[in-house]
Amino acid sequence: MEIYHISDVIGLLGLPQPLSGRSSYYISCPCCDDNPRKRHLNVNTAKDVFRCPRCGVGGGVIDLYSLYTGLPRDDAKVELANKLGQGCFIPSPPAVSLPQECPLTDISTRHETYSALLRMLSLAPDHRDNLLSRGLTEQEIIEYGYKTAPVIGLSALAKRLQENGFYIAGVPGFYRKGDGSWTFIGQDRGILIPVRNSAGQIQGLQLRRDDTSKRKYRWVSSAEKPDGCGAECWTHLRGPVGPSIILTEGPMKADVIYSLSGLTTLAVPGVNGLSHLRDTLLQLKSLGLQKLKTAFDMDYVSNYHVQTGYLNLYALLDDLELSYSTFLWDPRYKGLDDYIWEYLLHKSRET
Ligand SMILES: [Zn+2]
Repeated sequence: MEIYHISDVIGLLGLPQPLSGRSSYYISCPCCDDNPRKRHLNVNTAKDVFRCPRCGVGGGVIDLYSLYTGLPRDDAKVELANKLGQGCFIPSPPAVSLPQECPLTDISTRHETYSALLRMLSLAPDHRDNLLSRGLTEQEIIEYGYKTAPVIGLSALAKRLQENGFYIAGVPGFYRKGDGSWTFIGQDRGILIPVRNSAGQIQGLQLRRDDTSKRKYRWVSSAEKPDGCGAECWTHLRGPVGPSIILTEGPMKADVIYSLSGLTTLAVPGVNGLSHLRDTLLQLKSLGLQKLKTAFDMDYVSNYHVQTGYLNLYALLDDLELSYSTFLWDPRYKGLDDYIWEYLLHKSRET
């Protein structure tokens, strides 16, 4: 009987292959790399595992297929068997010996802890200006919960949260120091973006880093830290659920599109990070969702890696029997939000 390897799934998904002779290499992480040229996801074809040290996503042969297609693990296994022929999967290997992590805690706990954390933080004037320049209003900036990521006093933040009765174990971003006390992950300066479910609960946080002209978003994660916890590819919803919503890439973009257009917008972290999309869409369907308009950045036209993500996305939407169409806009603007903003600016100048 044939045994399937991670290289079979890589071929099936159209992911980059290793250079000849290499068994361990890096590809763009569907969960936390917003730029296809960035490569944080380590694939090991000898051990049949993958793992991103930055956001913590990882697993074996079936998990990789599940991550990219958004299929639940059991369905991914069936579909793989159909595509590859009858054979057997090598079982997911035990996690490599890394510091012991905490399992992810439940959504209510994460929401309460993150909400309390954000209340302790402030928003720097340059970050407020940045958000205003995208089209968000003062009121929205406060309501959505944007804050400046803390770079000092991280242990004190963790201590205050604990003293106020908030749980921090299993909340991505928190971990234990060598002396056993808790702290929050030290990151680059940037804007913290709450990533929320349809009930408005904070599932996780993203960080938009300052130090580059290119947009760089990453999950707040304490994967691979003692008692740390990795983030997942959570989706983000902004606006009331109705029959039709926009689907885009990036939580901040969803907030901006909703603010500028009034259209409810759902965001996946990236077109290749679909692992939570199925559950989200099933839930939204039960609340009346029928149709999606996809509004991904125009670079999908030319990027093969992104195209593969698109095919998986459409297969998922077909499978859920949701109808969809694509927003097309002037390709001089990278995203729909840039385009609407520019359009509104011109309009306001004319009047
Ligand atoms: Zn990652």
